[in-house]
Amino acid sequence: RDLYMIDRWGGGYFDVSADGKMTVAPLQGRGRKVVISEVLEQAKQEEGLTTPLVIRFQDILHHRVRTLNEAFIKAIAENKYRGAYRGVFPIKVNQLREVVDEILEAGRPFHYGIEVGSKAEMFAGLAVHSDNESLIVCNGYKDDTFIRTALIGRKLGKKVILIAEKLSEVRAIVRIAKEMGVDPEIGVRVRLVTKGAGKWAESSGEKAKFGLSTSEILEAGEILRQAGMPQAFKLVHFHVGSQVPDILIIKRAVREAARYYAKLRRLGHPIEYIDVGGGLAIDYDGSRTPTDASMNYSVEEYARDIVSNIADVCEEERVPHPNIVSESGRAIVAQHCVLVVEAFGAIENTAQPALPLAAPSHKLIANLHEISEKLNDTNLLESWHDLLEVREEAQKTFELGFLELDVKAAIETTFWQVAQRIRELSKSHDPAELPDELAALDAKFGTQQICNFSVFQSLLDHWAFGALFPVVPLHRLEEKPSVLSTLVDITCDSDGKVGKFIDRNEASRDMLPLHSRDGKPYHIGVFLTGAYQDIMGDIHNLFGRVNEVHVFLDEDEDCGYYLEETIEGNSIADVLRLTQYHTHDLAQRVKTQVDAAIKQDRLKPTEGMRLLNEFERGLKDQTYLKW
Ligand code: PLP
Repeated sequence: RDLYMIDRWGGGYFDVSADGKMTVAPLQGRGRKVVISEVLEQAKQEEGLTTPLVIRFQDILHHRVRTLNEAFIKAIAENKYRGAYRGVFPIKVNQLREVVDEILEAGRPFHYGIEVGSKAEMFAGLAVHSDNESLIVCNGYKDDTFIRTALIGRKLGKKVILIAEKLSEVRAIVRIAKEMGVDPEIGVRVRLVTKGAGKWAESSGEKAKFGLSTSEILEAGEILRQAGMPQAFKLVHFHVGSQVPDILIIKRAVREAARYYAKLRRLGHPIEYIDVGGGLAIDYDGSRTPTDASMNYSVEEYARDIVSNIADVCEEERVPHPNIVSESGRAIVAQHCVLVVEAFGAIENTAQPALPLAAPSHKLIANLHEISEKLNDTNLLESWHDLLEVREEAQKTFELGFLELDVKAAIETTFWQVAQRIRELSKSHDPAELPDELAALDAKFGTQQICNFSVFQSLLDHWAFGALFPVVPLHRLEEKPSVLSTLVDITCDSDGKVGKFIDRNEASRDMLPLHSRDGKPYHIGVFLTGAYQDIMGDIHNLFGRVNEVHVFLDEDEDCGYYLEETIEGNSIADVLRLTQYHTHDLAQRVKTQVDAAIKQDRLKPTEGMRLLNEFERGLKDQTYLKW
């Protein structure tokens, strides 16, 4: 548990059982703990679902929604704040219907709503939203259809707020609202000077893609006044980027936006809401620092700082306290999802298979023997350098054609055997004083574990931004790991790998300690993957969506949980269809070739038909490897 820092990033949800298995406590310490490898086994036995498998713990979603809302309710009470909290879930962070339904159900007691950022999300959001006390906040660039759909929501009695990203949108909203005979509710996204930090900071600052300048905001108010709709101006919004690592940035942005709200109120605009956007971070690496993969604050501190800073500005400016909206996505969904992959092979960096120590039949082998004989505790670095020199000479000799393959194999094996002795002797030295070259020897003995998944489908942010996720074997955690490894996927792309891991020590982030597989199934969990990853996944190399299972707690069940829903991953036919290959056409084309082979007597008709059936059956297989 310590080695993988589970207590640091686990947030009370993840733990290890006495027999070394990863567990999940969806209610954070309260309620049952679920053993993840048992869910995996059950999904396989009962539903035939194999890895890669996404396991969603739906109760974690409930718990996250409650935690966020209760944090704001508490902060509001503590600050004697006179507005309410009306959070919304941005569905772009995970649009899966079951996830959104679950979040809305958990949020019903708090009138927790939904945020949409595109036309398609607008259609989905309008349909699944049912609590008319909660908000639908509409961000993103909008056309007439987007605006009309939002205004259908107004006709249905919903609090739908259209956030203008451009002035032309304000004019379009006014025009369409008049055509439809409905009162619109409008917000503006302010382009704050305060900039976020970390990998997603570009959403903010003066050069941000979104948001209105101060003069455009004033103009928006004027357009509404002139259209006879001054009461439509309802909300001031900002978003400084996702995963904001430092609470100081949030405080500064909130104060800046609160000034906009207050000044606009003083100009007579009847604004009722400040929307602080997303950005509430997740501590992926457990460091609790304001760095890319972490954060230096808690949900409670976040809520307190937002409420108290808005209150402060409002007191100073003598304007009413607005209702507070936040659009936290990552902080609601990241923890609920575990991606399980299976390691099924290893690429060894050292010479494999290791041969017995070769007789010194060749000068270079004799040199290696000599280095080995002289090796002692005081000449480790020198011996390592001598070893490298022999290896280099062997390579040159081979390139000139003077080294036979059996001698080359013997040199490689002997090289790694002596290197292993140097590595072992290095361990008795104080790590702080060990030269870097010797400290790096462990990594040279590392392996690459080949895992049945695609980084591009399931961990896109790791490939795109180097985002870190906690990676932990799901079992054998009572055993000391014996190999250092990276993970490589099954795409034909050398970028398809996980080569950075969380670790207290920056120097050891390149390798993950794992157990030797010994030919047995070895399952590895990638945690905190519920935000953005599965929805942004790409079908690179035509690896499609993975199998999925949804777990609910049930105290009445013997095992304390049940699998509520399973969703099969894409079949080969599914992903081919997305690239315009249709099953029927593909089968026809193969049939033409089979017919030709039969005509040319290369195939018997029965064998030809059997092969054609096999091809058609194969199209129904899933895209990942199966054994
Ligand atoms: N709101 C807007 C406008 C966004 O662009 C985003 C994502 O960047 C979010 C909310 C969600 O942010 P987060 O997942 O950091 O809470």
